[in-house]
Amino acid sequence: MQKTIKKVLPSTKVDMGGLLIDQPLPSQGVDYIDPFLLVHHWQDTLPGNRRPQEVGVGPHPHRGFSPVTFVFKGSVRHQDSLGHDAVVGPGGTQWMFAGRGITHSERPDSQLAKEGGEFEIIQFWVNAPAVHKMDPPFYRPIAMEDTPAVIGKGSTVHVVSGEYEGTQGVVTPVSPLTLLRVGMEPGATVNVSVPEPHNTIVYLLEGKISVNGQTLSDKDLAWLDRDGDEVQIEASSDSRFILLSGEPIEEPVASYGPFVMNTETEILEALRDSQQGKMGVLVETFEDAPPFWP
Ligand code: MN
Repeated sequence: MQKTIKKVLPSTKVDMGGLLIDQPLPSQGVDYIDPFLLVHHWQDTLPGNRRPQEVGVGPHPHRGFSPVTFVFKGSVRHQDSLGHDAVVGPGGTQWMFAGRGITHSERPDSQLAKEGGEFEIIQFWVNAPAVHKMDPPFYRPIAMEDTPAVIGKGSTVHVVSGEYEGTQGVVTPVSPLTLLRVGMEPGATVNVSVPEPHNTIVYLLEGKISVNGQTLSDKDLAWLDRDGDEVQIEASSDSRFILLSGEPIEEPVASYGPFVMNTETEILEALRDSQQGKMGVLVETFEDAPPFWP
């Protein structure tokens, strides 16, 4: 049975420390769509002539959930307090599970900072069940070539997690998720089966599609209810979208900045642990940076 559209959320522009980004979630009075807490879409033309440490977001901690980045244009460099240092290009994914705490930085890569160019990413936050919030953190970069793809008639579906038409994604998250990145040509149709108790999100980066009969424009997010197991997407122009589907966690959410826990007490503990260095320390390196100008 086709899932019912519960709501369509258009993006709002938000200012993230000088960066103007599109935010479809939270939006319109919807705080989160369990287990998805936030969706950010950052699309920009970088001017170039910047040192790499002047672009993107410097070291900051996380606890209690997974911040995941899908890269569409340009490349993103991730460094973290566990010693990871990886650049992921277009079509790739930066997968991080913050668990009990990790400190990372997320920046357009050095070449993009220096030379400028198109940059487009989506970052979404997936909550973790209480039982896993204090697990050890892990990080995994996934290149486009390492992301299984299902090629259909006028469509390409990359399976990051979960299953689509018998193809299994590469990431095993701490709670069941289906995460797809999809490109479609006009006239193409894609049918996705998701487990029935899931909340499902379709976010359209670009183009025009209908989702179970509901038309979406650029930067609209469709929230599909937990009442069915089928999502049918039809494209009427060249379109790119993501489909995020997850089993609701159904626990209290207490969040503050980069921490997502179950109670206010746990948030205060997270602040204290972060200040005491218990979420690791990251000193970034920029080997290929041009010298400081005076
Ligand atoms: Mn972060």
